[in-house]
Amino acid sequence: MKLLDFSKYSSIKIGPTVKIKIIDKIKKENESYTIIGGANNLLVSPNPPKLAKLSKSFDYIYQKDNLLYIGGATPSGKILSYAKKNDIAHFEIMQKLPGLLGGMVKMNAGLKEYEIFNYLLYIKTINNYIEKDNIKFSYRYTNIKNIIYEAVFKVEKGFNYKLFRYFENLRVNQPNLPSAGSCFKNPKGYYAGEMIENCGLKGYQKGNAAFSEQHANFLVNLGNAKFQDALYLIELAENKVFEKFKIKLEKEIVIL
Ligand SMILES: Cc1cc2nc3c(=O)[nH]c(=O)nc-3n(C[C@H](O)[C@H](O)[C@H](O)COP(=O)(O)OP(=O)(O)OC[C@H]3O[C@@H](n4cnc5c(N)ncnc54)[C@H](O)[C@@H]3O)c2cc1C
Repeated sequence: MKLLDFSKYSSIKIGPTVKIKIIDKIKKENESYTIIGGANNLLVSPNPPKLAKLSKSFDYIYQKDNLLYIGGATPSGKILSYAKKNDIAHFEIMQKLPGLLGGMVKMNAGLKEYEIFNYLLYIKTINNYIEKDNIKFSYRYTNIKNIIYEAVFKVEKGFNYKLFRYFENLRVNQPNLPSAGSCFKNPKGYYAGEMIENCGLKGYQKGNAAFSEQHANFLVNLGNAKFQDALYLIELAENKVFEKFKIKLEKEIVIL
C-alpha cells in the first residue's frame, strides 16, 4: 500500500490523499481493485473505490519476432522515445498524450482517426493474451473489464515526423492549465466544445474550476479547485447541452 495525493498526482490536480495498492504481480485478488494509470483522465472524489496501480515492474518495452511488447505502466513519453529511436511507425500519437499504456488502451486514447487500437494486436490480462478481435472498442471506448498488464503491437518501420508535427499543431489551442483532457466525448457529428460554448459556458467558473476560455471542452483547475465544483460544472454542461440540443453528452473524464 502507498499513500497517493491526487491533488498532486492527477493531471487536473484535484482529489484526496488515499491508500492505494501497488501491484507487483499478476494475481486474481488484484481484480477487486479499480486500477488507475497516470490519472490523466480522472476526477477522483473524496470517497473513491479501492484503488490500485501497477508497479515499475510493468514499465517495459521489448521487441521479439517483429512484435512490440509494452508493459501496462509504461509512460507514453517513453514509448514515443523508443519509437523514434528505433524508427518504428504508429506511435507518433503519443506526443503530448499523457498516460500510461494501460490507461491509454482502456480509453482507446487517440486523436482524430488515430487511436491506440489501430495497431494493437493483443492485450494481456489475468486471462492471458486476448486478441483485438475479441475486444469491443470504438471512439474512446473499450469493453475491457480486467486490468491490462501488457499490450502487444505490430512493429512497422518508419517513424513519421510529418504526422508527429501534425499532432503537435493540433495541440496549440489546448490550455496549459491543469485538466484531465477533454471532459466530454464528441457526439457524432458535433463537437462537445462548441456545444458547451453555445450554451454560454466557455470560461464559466465555479469556485476555482472552469470550462477553459481557450477550449470549452477542457475543464480546468485555476488553482485549488474542489471536486464538488468540477462535478457541478460537468452536470451543468450536461443539462444545458441537453436542453439546447436534445443530445446527452457522454463523459470522457472518468469519475471515481
Ligand atoms: C493535457 C491533456 C491532453 C489529453 N489529450 C488527449 C487526447 O488527445 N486524446 C485522448 O484520447 N486522451 C487525451 N487525454 C486524456 C488521457 O491522456 C488519456 O485518457 C490517457 O489514456 C489516460 O491514461 P492514464 O494512464 O492517465 O489513465 P487514467 O486516467 O489513470 O485512467 C483512465 C481509465 O483507464 C483505466 N485504467 C488505467 N490503467 C489501466 C490498466 N492498466 N488496465 C485497465 N484499465 C486501466 C482507469 O480505471 C480509468 O477508467 C489528455 C489528457 C490531458 C491531461
